[in-house]
This record gives sequence, C-alpha cells and structure tokens, in this order.
Amino acid sequence: EGAILRLENVRRHFTVRGPMGQRRGAVQAVDGVSLHVQPGEVLAVVGESGCGKSTLGRLMLRLDAPDAGTVRFEGRDLGALSARDLRAQRRWMQMIFQDPYASLDPRMTVGQAVEEPLRLHGDATAAERRARVQALLARVGLRPEHADRWPHEFSGGQRQRIAIARALASGPRLIVGDEPVSALDVSVQAQVINLLQELIRELNLAFVLISHDLAVVRHVADRVAVMYLGRIVEEGTTDAIFTDPRHPYTRALLGSVPGVGGAAPLQGDLPSPINPPAGCRFHTRCPHAQEVCGRDDPPLAQGAKAGPGHRAACHFQDTLPPMPPLREHRAG
Ligand code: SF4
Ligand code: MG
Repeated sequence: EGAILRLENVRRHFTVRGPMGQRRGAVQAVDGVSLHVQPGEVLAVVGESGCGKSTLGRLMLRLDAPDAGTVRFEGRDLGALSARDLRAQRRWMQMIFQDPYASLDPRMTVGQAVEEPLRLHGDATAAERRARVQALLARVGLRPEHADRWPHEFSGGQRQRIAIARALASGPRLIVGDEPVSALDVSVQAQVINLLQELIRELNLAFVLISHDLAVVRHVADRVAVMYLGRIVEEGTTDAIFTDPRHPYTRALLGSVPGVGGAAPLQGDLPSPINPPAGCRFHTRCPHAQEVCGRDDPPLAQGAKAGPGHRAACHFQDTLPPMPPLREHRAG
C-alpha cells in the first residue's frame, strides 16, 4: 500500500439532453479508472482535450463525486466522509486551476486570498498567519507589499504564482494541477513550471500534473498515465512512456509533438464520448487495428516486453513495430 491517493474503478458519466429535454445519452467522461499516486511522486495525466482529464482531476480531490468506484486519500475513502470531515481533509489536498484569471476572487486582496485556507483550517493566530502569507509570497517570487494589492493588478504568470501560494498555504501533501501553465504566455510557462518543480522537491509534495504538453510532462513527471475517451490506455514511468510506448495512441501523441516524436502523428478527430466505439475505443483511429479490435475491449495489462508497472490496453502491445528513437529536446 502506501499510496497517498488511490482510485479504484472510478466512473463519472454526464447525461446529455436534447432541445426538448429528452435524454440523448451519457458522456463517459471517466469510465472505470484505477490509478495510484505515491507520496512525493509526480504523476502526469495526458491526453487530448476532451478525453476526461479535468473531470478525473476533480474526482481525485472530490470536487466532484464519482457515480461508481472509490477514491482513497491516505487510505480514507473520501466518499464515506461527512461534509465536515471532508472539509478538514481538504487542507492536505489542493488544486491549481488552469485559468488564473478565474481562480482568484476579485474581492479579496492577494494577502486575503493566500490567507483564506489558513483561516478556514484555523490553527494559527492572526500574526502567525500574516507571517506565513509573507513567507509564501516570497517563496513564489512575489514581494511582501503585494499582499495589499488586488488580483487584477497582476499578470497571468503572477496570478498563477499567487494561486500556487494559496494552494500551499495549508501545508498540503497532494496537489492536482489542471493545465497549470497552459493559459500563460509561452515566455513565462517555463518559469512557473520550474517554480512548481522546485516546490514539489522541497516540500516532498505528491503532484498530479494534468497536461497536454508532453515536453513539460517529460521534464517534470516521474510517471505518466495516458487517457483516451475516459479510460487509461497506458501507464508507466516517464522513461518507459517516452522511449518504449506500448500503445498506438501514446505513440501517435508523441508523434504529434514537434521535436519529440518519431512515430506518425495522430489521425482523425476524437470520437464522441457519447456511445464511444465498441471494442478498443481507439480502433477508429489506430493504424494497427485488426478485426478483433472492433469487437474486444483490451484490458490494461503488462505486456511481455514491458517493465514493472508499465501497462497498456492494446491487444497487440507485444508485436507493435519498434518505436523510432525520440529526439532530445528541452522543455518550455
Ligand atoms: Fe490499435 Fe487494436 Fe491496439 Fe486498439 S487494441 S490500440 S485498435 S491495435
Ligand atoms: Mg481540461
């Protein structure tokens, strides 16, 4: 055991209705996901937009409730906690959102925003909280006098630094970052990623990095889970995923990154997550698909050539042609 976060068979479907309110189907945003995160580990969740990554991130912190399955934080089933106990747990698990313009309350000063989680979990005096806010602002690269200013006075990159300080305030052991730099100017993305990486190491944080940016993922993550239409189709160490991917979808994703990929890039559009394809969900876009793929759903399993903890959901993971070597590149 020892996992800080463990998801078992987690499912979240959203009902879709037509213009007359009739039920048109269910979006299978997350459909039977099992995952774990070790203390101090960075797990990246990657995939195209619309594959269910953000919903999965919200389920991890129980900002949304699954229809089925369990989410355990440090062994505790979050679905079994009272609202009060869940609130108390929240100090140990925090989220950083994509949009720093929407995630800070415009009616709070920067200092109030960073202090709020400390006040909610109320175990410090006002003077201690002020000192802690100052230390947090300094740690994320802001100045003490910024505490009295308003979020709208700051750039996107600075706002994301404020959001990071706020997420750290209560001393969390797990943070989920949903595309934490993708809304920022390219010129500041690397600075914010480097800051996050330093903090993750310094504080021994477990971090779930939800991202479509594979260059950043390769630079930051210890392990990677690849998501496609609500399912995990491959997981493994960052090295295994980038140098020896066993799922054709992972290969196509890597092939779509300029300067990284050697395989053919992704073809076609993501099918609708309402009534996803039968059998292997990737078979409508897979260059290796055979007849069985349209019929039988491949389990997420360790192949004969894969190392420990490296699993893929592909009938042909052991017989795929070798992957062309990746080119070296620098993140950001
Ligand atoms: Fe492609 Fe078939 Fe593997 Fe699915 S199971 S990824 S369709 S080869
Ligand atoms: Mg998203």
